Amino acid sequence: MTGDPVLEVDGLVKHFHVGSQLLGGGGTVHAVDGVSLTIGPGELLGLVGESGSGKSTVGNCIARLVEPTAGTIRIRGTDVTHLSRREMRPLRREVHMVFQDPYSSLNPRMTCGQIVGEPLRLHKLVPRRDRDRRIVQLFDQVGLRSELRHRYPHELSGGQRQRVGLARALSVSPALLIADEPVSALDVSVQASILNLLRELQRDLGFSCLFITHDLATVEFLCDRVAVMYLGAIVEQAPTEELFAAPRHPYTQALLSAAVVPDPVEQRSRTRIVLEGDVPSPLAPPSGCRFRTRCPLAARSAPQSVDEEPELRPVGPDHLVACHLVGPGGAAPEVLDLAAGGI
Ligand code: ADP
Ligand code: MG
Repeated sequence: MTGDPVLEVDGLVKHFHVGSQLLGGGGTVHAVDGVSLTIGPGELLGLVGESGSGKSTVGNCIARLVEPTAGTIRIRGTDVTHLSRREMRPLRREVHMVFQDPYSSLNPRMTCGQIVGEPLRLHKLVPRRDRDRRIVQLFDQVGLRSELRHRYPHELSGGQRQRVGLARALSVSPALLIADEPVSALDVSVQASILNLLRELQRDLGFSCLFITHDLATVEFLCDRVAVMYLGAIVEQAPTEELFAAPRHPYTQALLSAAVVPDPVEQRSRTRIVLEGDVPSPLAPPSGCRFRTRCPLAARSAPQSVDEEPELRPVGPDHLVACHLVGPGGAAPEVLDLAAGGI
C-alpha cells in the first residue's frame, strides 16, 4: 500500500439485541465480531462470504448507517466511530454507498437527474446554474444517455438504475465507495457491463472501494485484495492472486473448491470440498474457533480450537489467516489432500 490508508477499521463489533429480554426470549445476534481491515488509496478490497456472515453490517457500520457496538472506524485518519449526524455531514462526502437493489435505494418520486444531483445540492458542490451540466457529465461517465435524466427510476432497466446509483455515488467524488452486492440483483449479462464500468471508473477516478459480495468470480475479476468472512469474523485476507492460488484457511479452500470456473475441463478435474452441516446461528456462535463445527480438519483439529479463538496471523507478505492449524511458517492445512482422499 502506498500512501496513508483511506479506511482503517479496528476491532469492529456489531451486536443486535433481538426479541424481548423481559420475557426471557431475547438474544444477541453476533453479526460482526471483531473485524479489522485497512484500505489504501485507490485500492479495491473484496469482502466475501456466505449470506448472513456479516458483510453488509460491516459496510453499514463504516457508512455509519448502523451504530457500531465496539471498535473504531477511521476515514482518512479521522475517527468517525461516534460522530453525531451533524458532525458526520462533511464526511458523508468521503464515503458513499451503492446498494444491491437500485430500485429500492433510489427515490421513486425523483427523476434520475434529481437523484444524481441531490448530493451536489446537499453538499453545495456545484452552483445551481451549473448543476445540470454536471449531471449530464455524470450520466455520460456511467454510460447513460443524458435524456434519461428526465425519467423516473421505474422507467429504467435494472442495469440503467444501477448506473444511476453509481453516478449518484460518484457525484461527490468520494474517497471510498462501499458497494454492497451491487450486481447481485441484475441479470448475468448486465452484471459484466456494470463490473467493467466500475473498474474503469475506479481507474479513472482513483477512489478506494470496499466491494461486498458472495461471488468469488466477481472478486477475482475486480479486487486487489480479498477478505473472507465467516460468521462475523475475517478468517483469511490476502492479495487476490495469492488467495486464489494458495488459499490457507480450510473455509476459503472449501469456498474456492465450490466456485464455478469457466473452463469445464478444469471444473471436472477439481476436487470439491463439501462442508458438513449448516452455518451456526449468529445468536450462539461456537466457542473458540468459529469454524470448528464445520471444519473438515476437525478430527485432527488443535485442542485449543474449543476454547481459543484463533487470531489472524501473518503467513506471508500481506497474507493473514485465522486458523490454529496454520503453523507459524505458514504451512497450509491439507484439506484438499484429505478431500481428494475421500472426505
Ligand atoms: P450478509 O450481508 O453477509 O448477508 P448481514 O450483515 O446482513 O450479512 O447480517 C449478519 C447477521 O446479522 C445475520 O444473521 C442477520 O440476520 C443479522 N442482522 C442484520 N441486521 C440485523 C438487524 N437490524 N437486527 C437483527 N439482526 C440483524
Ligand atoms: Mg448483505
